[in-house]
Amino acid sequence: MIYRSTFNPKVRANFEEAVFLGLPDAKGLYMPEHIPELPSGFFNELGQKSLVDIAYSVLQPYVEGSIDAESLKDIVLDTLSFPIPLTPIHDHVLSLELFHGPTLAFKDVGARFLARALGYFAAEKNNETTVLVATSGDTGSAVAHGFFEVPNVKVVVLYPKGKVSDFQRKQMTTLGKNIQAIEIDGVFDDCQNLVKQAFLDTDLRESKTLTSANSINVARFLPQMVYYFWAISQIQRNYPEHKLSPTYFTVPSGNYGNITAGLFAHRMGLDIQGFIAATNSNDSFPKYLESGNYFAQPSVATLSNAMDVGDPSNVRRIQDLFSHDIQSIRQVIQSKSYTDIQCLQAIEEVFKTHKYLLDPHGAIAYNACELVPKNGLSIILETAHPIKFKEVVESVIPDAVPMPSHISAQSDHEFKISMTSDFDSFKEYLLSNV
Ligand SMILES: *Cc1c(COP(=O)(O)O)cnc(C)c1O
Repeated sequence: MIYRSTFNPKVRANFEEAVFLGLPDAKGLYMPEHIPELPSGFFNELGQKSLVDIAYSVLQPYVEGSIDAESLKDIVLDTLSFPIPLTPIHDHVLSLELFHGPTLAFKDVGARFLARALGYFAAEKNNETTVLVATSGDTGSAVAHGFFEVPNVKVVVLYPKGKVSDFQRKQMTTLGKNIQAIEIDGVFDDCQNLVKQAFLDTDLRESKTLTSANSINVARFLPQMVYYFWAISQIQRNYPEHKLSPTYFTVPSGNYGNITAGLFAHRMGLDIQGFIAATNSNDSFPKYLESGNYFAQPSVATLSNAMDVGDPSNVRRIQDLFSHDIQSIRQVIQSKSYTDIQCLQAIEEVFKTHKYLLDPHGAIAYNACELVPKNGLSIILETAHPIKFKEVVESVIPDAVPMPSHISAQSDHEFKISMTSDFDSFKEYLLSNV
């Protein structure tokens, strides 16, 4: 597969190059040159396929030429080592539970795939690689865990000071070894800017093999397609009554990587009716759908903080996918923003009425099911386990959240350093310490 820049189609790379470079140029993101359609036989048998078989078929064309078939099988088997069940909340809303991985968030899927793909390339070349990642919470912990103790790879994770939960912070700071956490005095966009600048810096590029791990990286972003197919596979297998319902995926969106992966799945032939991009007060995308003009906004802190992104990178991939035609985007995606109060109300109502515990991100998605037509079926993407946002969830439902049994108590020993959002000192740190 060849990847090209959304900004300049002449900038091209194969999968391996796109993974290492992260960004093609200062303004673009990598896009596959074409989106392969899966054969009808694949869809006819979707209900009998395993998660790992689906992952292999879906991802194979995207890594062709860079990862051989046997290695890809090993990578997906190892990546998807946890269940992704589809659980009913009530008759018309099902929850795709993406939080059963090691860091209890959907980002485990992409982060584990990326870590294993990079590990595969690093082993082939025997070359030290530094992964830079900016996070508003969940990316950092998923990436840190995905890469922990992977030989030849060092991870530097930047997060905004005071803007991630204690639980999230500890997931990034207590590992140590090849994982360095840096606390930035600023917001998520400052962290993201530092990472973007590092990739464009000639000195750094000459002296280090740098790569990104944000949802902009093709190896993070593409594997997220898999569970959209897996959700429909589970409908065919376990919920025959819903087989013919027009189905909508409701995706709690921050940097819009997750929903973009869903749009790719749709292009590959997955038969679904549409998508709802559910957002918190960071509403540049719903405003864009409404007005047709995209404006970045400063990010705003909310209770669903993994989605506090004012200028979502993947909007460029969405625009590219639809050839910048706002009308065609509107035919497939609807979007709406919800307040913290609406988020808390959904957590409370769904727990009291349906005995299902949502996390704040899933709660934003649940709210947005109101946009699905009455005869439609909503699949919300439940992107994090409620324990990750214990303080928020327990503010409306006291003592509701037990610790999942496979998660051990967190250590108190944190390895982290603090910095401002000044690029020169970050660069200095990377040159001398990494
Ligand atoms: C990252 C994250 C999101 C947003 O996903 P994007 O791909 O950035 O849109 C939603 N929920 C949770 C829990 C997250 O960690």
